[in-house]
Amino acid sequence: MARCVTRSFELRGIFLKLFTCQACGNVLYFENRSCAQCGHRLGFMPEQVKLSAVEPDGERFATLADRKRARLFCANASHDACNWLVEPESGASYCCACRHNGIVPDLSNPDYLGRWRDLEIAKHRLFYSLIRWKLPVKTRAEDPAHGLIFNFLADDPSQRVMTGHDNGLITIALTEADDIEREKRRLEMREAYRTLLGHFRHEVGHYFWDVLVRDRGKLDACRAAFGDDTIDYGEALQRHYAAGPPPDWRAHFVSAYAATHPWEDFAETWAHYLHIIDTLEMASAFGIEVRPAADRSGGLSAHIAFDPYETEDFDAIVNAWLPFTFAMNSINRAMGMRDLYPFVLSPAVIEKLRFIHQLVQEQAHQQVQEQAKARRG
Ligand SMILES: [Zn+2]
Ligand SMILES: [Zn+2]
Ligand SMILES: [Zn+2]
Repeated sequence: MARCVTRSFELRGIFLKLFTCQACGNVLYFENRSCAQCGHRLGFMPEQVKLSAVEPDGERFATLADRKRARLFCANASHDACNWLVEPESGASYCCACRHNGIVPDLSNPDYLGRWRDLEIAKHRLFYSLIRWKLPVKTRAEDPAHGLIFNFLADDPSQRVMTGHDNGLITIALTEADDIEREKRRLEMREAYRTLLGHFRHEVGHYFWDVLVRDRGKLDACRAAFGDDTIDYGEALQRHYAAGPPPDWRAHFVSAYAATHPWEDFAETWAHYLHIIDTLEMASAFGIEVRPAADRSGGLSAHIAFDPYETEDFDAIVNAWLPFTFAMNSINRAMGMRDLYPFVLSPAVIEKLRFIHQLVQEQAHQQVQEQAKARRG
């Protein structure tokens, strides 16, 4: 089965999630389905991490970014739920992001279809990050017991669907894509932040704990950073909902929920690492620099002169992130909006993020070495 593996040695430094239409030069967003300027249909080539203008070529589509190679759209394009392309030689109907779908809701229900499309936008953003880091993801066909699979479930009258992860199976409650319901839950749970993308990033964090920590002999190192995960999970959750988080949780955890159990701490911190890297990448794509005149010390300045997905320098990421969020939160407040990043990173949380950074970078490095070895023969 075809896999989404990037060839970073060819691509280093030339991709950022802001693309240019090959037909007319217009700047495009990651989710654009067609170019607003010239009308060309657009498709994302996951193998090259690039959005391309396409032209019909019989049953197929020729990609302008790739010398007009013929490709097919993912089968979910017929529901306007995906604009990723598939290489015809792979024989696959679905792109490497949609191949992980299990149950999708009843698409004859227009409400369900709309919510599922919103969830797919978040899921594709998640896969962009996984592809950039070349993280190992197996489908259920490749690994029937632990492969990564998403079930998008609507509530039925007898049971409320809970979003969660279980051995590679990620359940996403369709109701979360209802803005009113999601905001209600955010307030009930006293959360500073609750988004569809946040759910995907959190739940996949559990999957990568299995794959990169448990299965790769990193349990001791992870326990040194996040604590003893052998404590009873069910009891820990009950304790959290009965008594709330410890009063000083902000000194140790990125969110109150992270204080429930080391597994949740890992997943919450993992999600934040993805928030930080992906947002910094977008800031860098726009050439955003932060240099407040009011700051005489220069401590609030940030210039992102590196690819956040590829840098090994974790301190550079943190040093750029803190002034950047200060600036973006201030801009949001000027518009009467909530903070873009309503969190504070304590020194303890920064060290947990460093653990995730090392885990991800080690994996990315290993993949590059394996690809080089495979090329040598
Ligand atoms: Zn165009
Ligand atoms: Zn797809
Ligand atoms: Zn969780």
